[in-house]
Amino acid sequence: MRARLFTRLRFAPPAAAMAHLTISRPDGTRERKDHWANDEGTAFVNPWPSANMKAMAGGAVAKFIWQGLWISKKDDLADPSRFVSTTTPDFSPAPQGSVKATWLGHACVLVSFPPPADAAPGERGVNVLFDPVFSVRCGPTQLFGAPKRYTPVPCGDVDGLPEIDVVVISHNHYDHEDIPTLHALYKKQAAHPPALLVPLNTLRTLGGVAAPADSVLELDWWEDATISVEGRGSVRLTCTPAQHTTARTPFDSAHSLWASWAAQAVDKAGENAGGAVWFGGDTGYCCVESETHEIDPSRPVCPEFERIGRELGPFSLALIPIGAYAPRWFLSTVHNSPLDAARMFKDIQAKKAIAIHWGTWDLSHEPLSEPPRLLAAAREVVGLTPEQFDTCALGGSVVVPA
Ligand SMILES: [Zn+2]
Repeated sequence: MRARLFTRLRFAPPAAAMAHLTISRPDGTRERKDHWANDEGTAFVNPWPSANMKAMAGGAVAKFIWQGLWISKKDDLADPSRFVSTTTPDFSPAPQGSVKATWLGHACVLVSFPPPADAAPGERGVNVLFDPVFSVRCGPTQLFGAPKRYTPVPCGDVDGLPEIDVVVISHNHYDHEDIPTLHALYKKQAAHPPALLVPLNTLRTLGGVAAPADSVLELDWWEDATISVEGRGSVRLTCTPAQHTTARTPFDSAHSLWASWAAQAVDKAGENAGGAVWFGGDTGYCCVESETHEIDPSRPVCPEFERIGRELGPFSLALIPIGAYAPRWFLSTVHNSPLDAARMFKDIQAKKAIAIHWGTWDLSHEPLSEPPRLLAAAREVVGLTPEQFDTCALGGSVVVPA
C-alpha cells in the first residue's frame, strides 16, 4: 500500500463571484490518492485490476493501426443516415420538474435542468454543456491526419446554441476537448462567460481559451463544486472516476486526469432539488484479452461505477458511451462495449440513459453501424428495455422527470 502523502495545492478563494454566476469550490489541501502517480497531482493511473494499460503499449498501437488498414467502412460511410438519424435540435427550456438532454454528436450533450419553481412560464433552468467539439477533425490540426466527422454538427456551430451556464470537460483527448469550439463559445458569451469545469491538471492544455480565470475549476475525483446562476437555479457537479487515460501530445500521456461527472440540481440550502444526471464521458468498464463482449469472470469490473450509484445515484438520466470498442484486446480497458454500457447503467443506478460516443468519428475497428445493434443485444442480456436505454437521433432530445 502506497504511503499516503499530503500535499498543499494552491486553490482560488472558496467562492468566486461573477455578475451572473456564483461558484463554490473546494478549498484547502488535497491528499495524494491511489490514482495519483506522483505527489504533485500531475500524473495519474487507473488504480484497479480492471484496467490493463499494457494492452495499449508498445507494438500494440502499431498492430491496431495495421489491422485497421484492412477494414473498409465504405458501406456505412456511403449513407450514415441508415443507422444514425439527424434532426434539428429543439433548445426550448426543460419543462418545470423535468430534465432535458440534447445529443449534439459524439460525447457532446446539452443538459437543461428544470427551471426554478418560481420561474415565469417559458423561463429556463441551468444549461450545462458536456464535451463540446464542433470541429470537423478531432485532432491537433484540421488539415490532415485526425478522423473527419461523418455526420454534421446538428446545431451548426456555437452560434446555434442557447446560452450556456456551465461547460464540463471529461478529459483532454481531442474528441472531447476542442480549443476552437471552446474559444468560439467564450467569445460568443463574453458578457456571460460559462463556468468551466475540468479534471485535475487539465488547465495546462486549455491555452487559447478566453475563459476568465475565476470561472475555471480543476477538480479531482470525488470533489464537487456548486454553480449558482442568477435566476436559473444551482447545480452541484461532482467529478467522478472513469477508466481511461489522457494525452494531447506524444509526451504528456496521463499527465492530466480523466473523469466522468455527476450533476445534481440543488436548492439554495444545497439540498437535492430533483434532477440528477451522470455523464460517462469516455470510459471502459473491464478488460478482456480477446474479441469478446462478455465479461471474463476471473477479472473484476471497475468498482467505481457501483460506488457512483451508491453515493450519488439514482440518476434521472445517464449519458453512457457505447462506441469505439473494437478490437477488444486493445480498447476494452478504455472504451465500453455496448454490453459494458448496459451493465454500467445498472451499476450507477440510472433510471434512463441515452448512448453517446458513437455516430460521429471513425475511431476504431467495429462497423460504424454496429453499436446500436449490440446495444439492443446487450439490453436482452442485462434485462433492460429500449425505453430505459437507447440511442437517440443526432440533435434529438429526451425529457425525463427530474
Ligand atoms: Zn478519450
